[in-house]
Parts: sequence; structure tokens; C-alpha cells
Amino acid sequence: MELKNVSKHYNGTIALEDVSMGLNEGEILTLLGPNGSGKTTLLKILALIEKPFKGEVYYRGIRVTDENLTQIRRNVTMVFQKPILLDTTVYENIAYGLKIRRLPMEEIKARVKEALELTQLVGFENRQARGLSGGEQQRLALARALALKTELLLLDEPTANLDPKSSAIIENVIATVNHELKTTIVMATHNIFQAKSLPNRIALMSMGRISRIGSPEDVFSALSKVLIRFAALENTFVGEAKMKENGITLIDVGGNVRIEATAKAQGIVSVFINPRDIVLSKRPLESSARNMFKGKIVEISDSGAVVGLKVDVGKPFIVQITKRSFEEMGLNLGSEVYIAFKASSVQIL
Ligand code: ADP
Repeated sequence: MELKNVSKHYNGTIALEDVSMGLNEGEILTLLGPNGSGKTTLLKILALIEKPFKGEVYYRGIRVTDENLTQIRRNVTMVFQKPILLDTTVYENIAYGLKIRRLPMEEIKARVKEALELTQLVGFENRQARGLSGGEQQRLALARALALKTELLLLDEPTANLDPKSSAIIENVIATVNHELKTTIVMATHNIFQAKSLPNRIALMSMGRISRIGSPEDVFSALSKVLIRFAALENTFVGEAKMKENGITLIDVGGNVRIEATAKAQGIVSVFINPRDIVLSKRPLESSARNMFKGKIVEISDSGAVVGLKVDVGKPFIVQITKRSFEEMGLNLGSEVYIAFKASSVQIL
């Protein structure tokens, strides 16, 4: 699939502006950007669900037109962030699309079985889809898409707000189908950990444009200070800096959070704290770290050996810990924790 100078507006709101890009066969491409940056719109255009306002879409070199749209659309499946499941069993939800495509019954059974296995939903066949947990529903939506075996799979925030087990299963499935079936995958996320671990390429999105596209190494090393601010990446806050007598800078970033830094600054600044520089504990730490805040875990994202946690202390902080300490500390959504980091770890942008 290739886009040439694609723009999309909704009643005057610019959702995409002059986007040109192509997909490589068999790749995993991650669209990384804050909410409202145009990720979903870009996915819908690639899925041929939305038409661009300006620009062209090509499939294998053929321009997509009203005439060939329906036929080309069969090669693409999109899984929405909030999937709409049919009010029937898990089995029927997966089989439905295959029945519409008039596949033989044996083939339908085999494909449903394979999709259930991949998403670890074996045994759920006769359960009512709408009675499943959020994570199970998301896995079912993915199973339904996988059964269609399309060459291009588009996933909108596939693991946002999911429990760690479902997130890990979904990330595993993405890697497996890409590897074994050579399915091309485009996935939207605002989670930098996910963007780092899975994809071959990352497209950094901000304000309806792709500001950079390349390998994860390229994109992350090229993330200039301006881009960090633009992309509103985790642990970047804007606040007012004041210098104190003792040489420490105090930055009030709102939400009752005042951050101490050793770097000197005055006035409105952006600050960034690398998730790896933050220490997490269940009790107040006896440490020399000048910044310590109490909060609650509001999001957990599991990407293998490392677990990313979002801790709300008045402002959301992202913290990385190993899977092992995560399990040893018995952490969960809602757990009360302390975060601490040194004044010298606060980077002023
Ligand atoms: P993202 O997926 O990165 O959060 P979206 O593609 O959903 O971004 O949205 C990009 C912009 O387009 C936002 O400003 C959003 O409010 C706007 N937008 C998206 N869909 C619609 C719609 N159906 N009607 C009006 N505005 C929309």
C-alpha cells in the first residue's frame, strides 16, 4: 500500500496533512504519536475505510478508485481500539467473516481453531463474546481478523489499557503472524516501549504529519529536543522554573508536582525524566534522591523482560522495571507506590 500526498479533514479539523509513505511487504510498522496526531485516520485510509480528501492511495502499484475499492479492501483488515463484537458466541464471531466469504465449512473450522489457539482463547468457543473481559474481547477481535488471513493487518492501539497477560499474548501474536504468515502489520501506539520492541520501522506522527520514518534506532536517536516536545512523549512536562538559594531549580509542573533539578533554568521550560532513572518502591525510600512522590499505578504495559508502568502522582510518570521485580513486588493496577529520582536526572529541554 502506498499513499501519495494524502490529506484528510473533518469539518475543518486537519486529521492528516500531505502524508506520503509506502509499506514494505512483511514489515511491522508502528505509528507513534500522541492522541489526536492522526494515527487512527492514517490506519483508516490504509484500510480503505476512509477516503482521502486529497491525494492518492495505491495498492501494488494500482491506484485505488471507486471501481476497484471493494475488491482491494478484501486484502486488508483493521482491528479497532474499541472493537464491536457480534452479540453471539466467540466461535460465531470468528466464523462470521469466513461464512460471508463462503469458505467451505471444513476450512472455516480449521481457521477458527487456529485463531483461537494463537490468541489463547481455546475453550472459550461457546462463551458469549460480550461477556468476556476487556482483554479477552480485544484478543477475540484480533482472532477474528487473523482468521481472514489478509496480507495487511492494521491495529489501532491493540494493547492500550489491557491487563499485562492479554497485552503479552497480543504482542506475541503480532510477532508470530508477522514471522510465520509474513503478514504486513501497521500498528498505532502511544507507548514508546511497544514502539521500541516490536517494529521494523517507526513513523513518528505529530499534528497530522509523519515527522520521521525509519528504524527504531534511527527514529529514537534522531528524536531531537523539539521532537520530544512535539510528540509529547512520556515524562515530558511543561512548568515554571525558579532558582533557589541552594543552587537547586524548582519546577512546578502542575498537579501539585514540584520537581527539583540541578540544571539551572528560569521561566517556562520543558523537563524530561528518563523512565530508567526513576526508582519505584512500595514504601517511602530512604534515599538521597531529591524527588519523591506518592501515587497509584494506572497503566501496565508488558513488553517481555521489562514492564512499563504509568504512575499517577498528580502527573503521570512512566517507570520501567524488570518483569522479575514487578512480580516480586506483587504490583497491580491501583497499587500505591512511591517514585524517586535524582535532581541530576532531570533534563531541562
Ligand atoms: P489519533 O489516532 O492519533 O489519536 P486521530 O486520527 O483519531 O488521531 O485524529 C486526528 C484528528 O482528527 C484529531 O484532531 C481528531 O479530533 C480529528 N478527528 C478524527 N476523526 C474525526 C471525526 N470523525 N470527526 C471529526 N474530527 C475527527
